[in-house]
Amino acid sequence: MSRVYNFSAGPSMLPLEVLEKAQKEMTEYGTAGMSVMEMSHRSADFKAIIDDAEALVRELMNVPDNYKVLFLQGGGSTQFAMIPMNLAAKNKKADYVITGQWAKKAAAEAEKFITVNKVASSADKTFSYIPKLDKSKFSPDADYFYICYNNTIYGTRYTKLPETDAVLVADISSCVMSEVIDVTKFGLLFAGAQKNLGPAGVTLVIVREDLIGETLDGTPTMLDYKIHADNGSMYNTPPTYAIYILKLVLEWIKEKGGVAALQKLNEEKAKILYDFLDSSELFKGTVVPEDRSLMNVPFVTGSDELDAKFVKEAKAAGLVNLKGHRTVGGMRASIYNAMPKEGVIKLVEFMKKFEEENK
Ligand SMILES: *Cc1c(COP(=O)(O)O)cnc(C)c1O
Repeated sequence: MSRVYNFSAGPSMLPLEVLEKAQKEMTEYGTAGMSVMEMSHRSADFKAIIDDAEALVRELMNVPDNYKVLFLQGGGSTQFAMIPMNLAAKNKKADYVITGQWAKKAAAEAEKFITVNKVASSADKTFSYIPKLDKSKFSPDADYFYICYNNTIYGTRYTKLPETDAVLVADISSCVMSEVIDVTKFGLLFAGAQKNLGPAGVTLVIVREDLIGETLDGTPTMLDYKIHADNGSMYNTPPTYAIYILKLVLEWIKEKGGVAALQKLNEEKAKILYDFLDSSELFKGTVVPEDRSLMNVPFVTGSDELDAKFVKEAKAAGLVNLKGHRTVGGMRASIYNAMPKEGVIKLVEFMKKFEEENK
């Protein structure tokens, strides 16, 4: 058995070079005489790893000095609670744009603590587009304005940011470092690592310093950004091995020429797939062209039976995890940073062949 092309939405493919480096260093890291997994998080060796990881995030995303870079646990989903608890102490109010499951879940979690104003939704068409925003629906006193930048399940993404005076907050779990993002436009950005940055278990949070320190009453210590910021993400034991792999992925991104270079490659990869979908008689993309994601590409044949046959035969051909999310059906190809262009070309070749055989 050889390595397959893994189109999973997350956890997803990691660069082979990263896995091989980790393999080499698995039992003895440098001169430490032990694995990173066995190290004290207070050791000099681990301190160097987490410091490098932070420096690389700052360099690759051009993070200004007045932002904190945090490595937290609890996945993207814990951010759904931490954001209102930490950013809404003033007016206890926030605006949310509902573009899919993840935005919906984030809003539902926030509603436990604060007033949530849903300013727009694309639920009417199965979240297949990014809704136009009507400024008159915005709350004048919102503590923040929340978006999900790239919608992993439905395959849409923002190409233009909302024009709001409130602090902009974005879930970038499935697009972090896949395209250039101007951090200065945001108060807070977060991403679970398991899509574009590494293994599950660590969540990257980038937050403007002046926004943290005031929390809702009753906020648990572990959910207070300030605690983590003041302790260099080591208030308690951080997910050491996940941070180590994340650091290797960041080094790989840097070697590839950084985020802008990867964006160019990602645009080429996505174009190969979308061009085929637009020309195919059998397969159809489900998202309006102007809002198509570079990372997650959902498509259907129109027949559940053919969809299932396609997923099965693709798997046998070494193209795995192409089944769509259970709420959408059909197929979805997640083509994150670590998916080589060759994998996308192979997928399209396979789709052409399948179309020929099933006309
Ligand atoms: C995967 C994902 C999440 C959830 O992340 P967990 O780490 O599983 O909590 C949230 N938002 C988006 C956009 C995602 O793709």
